[in-house]
Amino acid sequence: MTACLNCNASEQEKPLLTIKFKGDEIYICPQCLPVLIHKPANLAGKLPGAENFGSPAEHHH
Ligand SMILES: [Zn+2]
Repeated sequence: MTACLNCNASEQEKPLLTIKFKGDEIYICPQCLPVLIHKPANLAGKLPGAENFGSPAEHHH
């Protein structure tokens, strides 16, 4: 079933955005998109590797 990665809203309830990731398609609703952009670590349990999305510039140590 197609449902938001974060809140599990179905496409019947909200418009869902399709995102391609590692060959898979994931779905997220507009309300949860800011979470993916700004706090991807919050999705780490749902989206493997998400904890690494947000910090390309913090690879210094
Ligand atoms: Zn959502």
